[in-house]
Amino acid sequence: MRLEVTSECMGVANCVGIAPLLFKLNEEGLSSTMPGEVPAVLVEKAQHAVASCPTRAIVAIDDNNDG
Ligand code: SF4
Repeated sequence: MRLEVTSECMGVANCVGIAPLLFKLNEEGLSSTMPGEVPAVLVEKAQHAVASCPTRAIVAIDDNNDG
């Protein structure tokens, strides 16, 4: 799984609170995410962050397409 933050981000920072290892706020106060594959131990947190974003700005991309 990879993550992308779209332009819908409003900087609410729920994602940073939930998964500080995956998201941080950039200098514009908007979320940016760690590039590349989400480590297996953080997938659950990533999914929680996706579900918790009020603007649905976090997109999870499943490269494996297995589920
Ligand atoms: S929770 Fe959503 S709106 Fe808030 S900072 Fe993260 S991506 Fe942006």
